[in-house]
Formats: sequence, C-alpha cells, structure tokens
Amino acid sequence: MAGQGRPHRALILGDIHSNLEAFQAVLQDARGHGGFDEVWCLGDTVGYGPDPGPCIELLQALPHHTVAGNHDLAAIGAADLQWFNPHAAAAVRWTAGQLSPGHRSFLAGLPQRLERGPFTLVHGSPRDPIYEYVVSPEVAGACFGLFTTPYCLVGHSHLPFLCLEAGHGAQFLGFPEGQGVRLPEARLIINPGGVGQPRDGDPRASYVLFESAPGDIFHFRVPYDVAATQAKMRRHGLPEHLAARLSQGR
Ligand code: ZN
Repeated sequence: MAGQGRPHRALILGDIHSNLEAFQAVLQDARGHGGFDEVWCLGDTVGYGPDPGPCIELLQALPHHTVAGNHDLAAIGAADLQWFNPHAAAAVRWTAGQLSPGHRSFLAGLPQRLERGPFTLVHGSPRDPIYEYVVSPEVAGACFGLFTTPYCLVGHSHLPFLCLEAGHGAQFLGFPEGQGVRLPEARLIINPGGVGQPRDGDPRASYVLFESAPGDIFHFRVPYDVAATQAKMRRHGLPEHLAARLSQGR
C-alpha cells in the first residue's frame, strides 16, 4: 500500500446504516482533514436507515475495501432474523424491498474479513466476524490471538474505542476526538464508532483517518442533518424508535 512518496491515507468507517446524510458529512469532513486514498468500511452499510441503495452506490463510487456486517447479510436473506430485535428486523424487511439485483450482488460478494497494511478488518470480532461484539476485556482478550496483523479494526457496537493488548487480557482506552494517536508497538483493537447510528451518547457521525507514515490515527466527529434522515425514515414508515434514537446518539 504505502509507496515511497507521500503517506497513504485511509478513511476508516463503519455502520453507515443507510444514513446518506451522515455518510456524505463524513466524506466531506474527511476531505477537509487532508483527504484519503481509500475507504476501509467495516460493514453494516445498510439496515435501520432510509437510503440503503444510495449508500451502497456512494460507497461503490469510492476506492473502497468493505467487509460484510450482520445487517448486510440479513438484508439479502443470508442471516437469521432471530438475532435481530423487532425494530431492527422490521428495518431489515423494509431494506430488503429497496435493494436492486445489483445492490444484492454487491452485498453478497462482501468478504467477512480483510487485511490492509497493518490492519485486519472485520465487522464484529476476529472470532465471529458477523455477530460478536467486542465490548468487554474478556472478549477483546480472547480476540488478540485470532488476528496476525498488529491491529484489528472492528465495528458493530457503534462505540468508538481503542483497546490495548495487556498480558492475556485487554484494556479499553478512550479515543480522544480530533487528536492524533501514534500507533503503538503494542497490539490494538480499534473501533472508529458508527457513521449512521452512533450509540455513545453523541449523535454526531464518528470516523477515523489513518496516515501510514509514521502511522497515526485520528478520530473525528461530524454533525449532520439528523432531522432530514429522520423525516425520510418517518415517510417510509420505518420504526419511530429507530428515527428518535438518532437525536440522542443512543
Ligand atoms: Zn451496526
């Protein structure tokens, strides 16, 4: 990836969740922070939100490397809806009806795991790339042995974090916004937070920029037109709970 010239830059994001306003805001913000050569997308491009097709098409128009998430598979009938709560399942059914054959074949072709530079990319965890949440030191500790790159990028929980390998366990650290973090010798699991449905109490879209030399990551938050997304969700009859939570970032 990184050539001899200027450092390679990747936009790391996930859980777009059919939220076109949030996705567009992230792309514009990232371009304002020096831009990117590639997008690394951690899955759940669709599900919950009102614009599954436009989000897939916007991603496809970018130089991207994308893995599959549980909502991506559910939308094409390749995941069991018993894993989804009733609101999410209702949105999955609506999403399935919005997809063209081209959208479906894009989702069906997504790998569950990718490697880019020093990173492994999965949606859930390296142990269970589709469904497992990395949210506890126990799970994170068990996952460090299951990828060989120095760092692993995960999505799924929609919670931004850095998680450091510590002995046989793991230590969750905050991920300061707007600040560069030099990638350490120690191994890390990194979650860039969610673009289209943040759940850490901050409704702004969340993403990370990676610069290959010397190896820094930057966490950014960006506001977007939440009301526009909510209005579309209500117009399409998507569950009110899913629209309302976007204002809270929960
Ligand atoms: Zn998700």
